[in-house]
Amino acid sequence: MPSTKQATKRLAKSSITRFRQQLETRRQEILNLYEHDLEVGKGSEDIEADDLVDRANDAYNREFMLSFSGGERERLREIEAALERLDDGSYGFCQPCGINIPQVRLKAVPWARYCIDCQERDEQGLLVDVD
Ligand SMILES: [Zn+2]
Repeated sequence: MPSTKQATKRLAKSSITRFRQQLETRRQEILNLYEHDLEVGKGSEDIEADDLVDRANDAYNREFMLSFSGGERERLREIEAALERLDDGSYGFCQPCGINIPQVRLKAVPWARYCIDCQERDEQGLLVDVD
């Protein structure tokens, strides 16, 4: 185990702001994708506008998630979780081992929860998820 003393420092405010913007932009892209799918889907149904509003209200949350592909849904969940970590100050730390996730990795994958080592262990099924 290498020393983690200097590795566990908080991200600069400017970095946090940048990552938050990236995450929110990415989230909006996924949501826009969903809105587009919904518009396409509407055209195929011949129902009254009022019915559509009622149905949308009833089923909105369920359909909202079901309409995503598995990958988009998972990505959105990861982005939401990353935004929560930005709020509670745990963003940028690898959850299992507690070290800083390298900024170069966060720039490529702003919703990353793990450092490279833990990510590899997770993909091999060796990591116990603490959530
Ligand atoms: Zn780690």
